Amino acid sequence: MAAERTLAILKPDCVRKDLIGEVTRRIQEAGFKIRAMKLVQLSRAEAEGFYAVHKERPFFGELVDFMTSGPCVPMVLEKENAVADYRTLIGATDPEEAAEGTIRKLFADNKGQNIAHGSDSIENGRLEANYFFPEFEIINNGG
Ligand code: GDP
Repeated sequence: MAAERTLAILKPDCVRKDLIGEVTRRIQEAGFKIRAMKLVQLSRAEAEGFYAVHKERPFFGELVDFMTSGPCVPMVLEKENAVADYRTLIGATDPEEAAEGTIRKLFADNKGQNIAHGSDSIENGRLEANYFFPEFEIINNGG
């Protein structure tokens, strides 16, 4: 059986800061296998759909503005315990509250512009992976 999967996004601030390589290196060093990856410019409708669960929140407009402010890099990651381990690797939503050494602590400016997204459950990992990648674009048995 395939190991657990999660959907990561290197957000537009990560791309603007030329940190795609740096953050991806840390993800790979932590033992995650990349099963799908691309550079994509989200439309407003796509960003609103992805974050639909937050549509009543006061920061929703800001979040959609940010996620459409430039290209981002969604990727499907695979590893034992991928969902929880990836969220540990990136750290708390607000970089000021994130643990030392986490990706958000190291690279994020604030709670909104926080470098990386990670799914919050196995089921959401599957749904979010398929939001960006049809099944045939997700590699199986990639070593
Ligand atoms: P996550 O699971 O750690 O990404 O956090 P949430 O699911 O709570 O929020 C989703 C995303 O919305 C976060 O990663 C931030 O980019 C953004 N966000 C959360 N809270 C705020 C906020 O108070 N202000 C702004 N501008 N964005 C926020």
